[in-house]
Amino acid sequence: MRSLVLFRNDLRVADNPALTTAAARGEVLPVFVYEPEAYGAAAKWWLHHSLTALAQDLGGLLVRQGEPLEVIEGLVADYGVDAVFWNRRYEPAGIAKDTEMKAALGAAGVVVESFPGNLLFEPWQIKTGSGGQFKVFSPFWRACLKAGAPAAPLERTSLAVFGATAEIDALDLLPTKPDWATGFGPVWTPGEKGAWARLEHFLSDDIKGYKTGRDRPDQTHVSRLSPHLHFGEISPRQIWREVQRQCAMYPSKQGDADKFLAEIGWREFSHQLLFHTPDLPEQNLNRAFDAYPWADNPGHLTAWQKGKTGYPLVDAGMRELWHTGYMHNRVRMVVASFLIKHLRIHWKHGMNWFWDTLLDADLANNTASWQWVAGSGADAAPYFRIFNPTTQAQKFDPNGDYIRKWCPELAALPTKVLHAPWEAPALVLLEAGVTLGATYPHPIVDHKEARAAALAGYDTVKSAQ
Ligand code: FAD
Repeated sequence: MRSLVLFRNDLRVADNPALTTAAARGEVLPVFVYEPEAYGAAAKWWLHHSLTALAQDLGGLLVRQGEPLEVIEGLVADYGVDAVFWNRRYEPAGIAKDTEMKAALGAAGVVVESFPGNLLFEPWQIKTGSGGQFKVFSPFWRACLKAGAPAAPLERTSLAVFGATAEIDALDLLPTKPDWATGFGPVWTPGEKGAWARLEHFLSDDIKGYKTGRDRPDQTHVSRLSPHLHFGEISPRQIWREVQRQCAMYPSKQGDADKFLAEIGWREFSHQLLFHTPDLPEQNLNRAFDAYPWADNPGHLTAWQKGKTGYPLVDAGMRELWHTGYMHNRVRMVVASFLIKHLRIHWKHGMNWFWDTLLDADLANNTASWQWVAGSGADAAPYFRIFNPTTQAQKFDPNGDYIRKWCPELAALPTKVLHAPWEAPALVLLEAGVTLGATYPHPIVDHKEARAAALAGYDTVKSAQ
């Protein structure tokens, strides 16, 4: 029997229930239908390389662009396929398309089945005592842990692939004029093998000290698995099992491993949040924030995007993002807070910029995280808690290594003034070759004034509550 497997954000061979089911029936036609609106600009770079790796691994991949239903209906007829399988996706637009496709193919007599594979638990599985949706992370994660170990991941299966040629170049996913992605290649290896190499390196080494080290952008304690997870080159169930294996061999890793799995838990939390609140990318979850008097300042937005705010940690983060398609989580929180609170620019502008520049751009994680920082989201940071970008830098990049890497024009400054160059004596600036306003910007806003303005804006939210 011939089955078609539709790949989306599950670009892997192992622990792929749709692929395993198809392989057990007979010949497999692996298909990827490119839906451009599902990807930001940086993510397209990743997609190109991930599809290339998958096609090599499978021995071919049929690549098309268009509306999935139309494309799949055509392929079913052309290739004599009697079954179509896929692993579920959870974004509102994807769910709507898949529901329609399931009904249409089913009505045409095709066997259609979808599988869980991209989360530890299905978004409707973990419920509060009264059967509702969790809006606070800690009880959600406790309920997940109580639900028992997630299903065991599936091993790789042997495949008889037919009809597949990989025409990935035709999708035109890579930037050319200019090629702004030159910084990505040296840092990342998209694909299933790259994902496993990263997980193994992390579990054998960097996980030690993750609990506190995960807040240090100048150190290497985080896994950097986010783009691999977003594209499904590795599944959370596989990660779960590997973490358990490591902890069985090295029990001293347990504390750090628990914290790491709790971050995977935030991914679960964000996905169930988007599933139950499909307008999360458009609407404040707390509608009182609709009253916030956002500023309209294109100059400030551009300075933020380009890493030219005059606040070194903010600028370092925005430049790391531009050059590598990634930003450390602590710095993501600082730059997001700066945009929303210091500049009073709507979180949607930040969310859109991240969508276009992050390799791990993910509708659930990105949306939930921006609303979390804004204070309008689920279990959110209170709005009145405003990060001071200078003290954050002193605390989490104490020696200035991260700032020096991404803001080299400040590298020669002594650490004492590196986090706040505007406080440096003129002679110190001169000796370090720094001219504020010329080689590095003056701060675009004053911290104290910006904080006061943000809090005044928040009064409108309080009165709308
Ligand atoms: P690790 O610390 O090694 O964590 C392991 C995995 O857990 C991550 O790969 C990720 O899948 C998940 N995870 C960790 N933290 C979070 C979190 N706070 N929320 C949800 N999942 C989490 N993450 C994305 O994957 N895509 C995004 O588009 C995205 N946008 C963000 C926007 C803002 C404003 C903020 C503050 C955070 C955002 N995050 C996003 C969450 C987080 O910053 C990244 O997942 C993390 O930095 C990825 O690095 P890592 O893989 O080394 O993380």
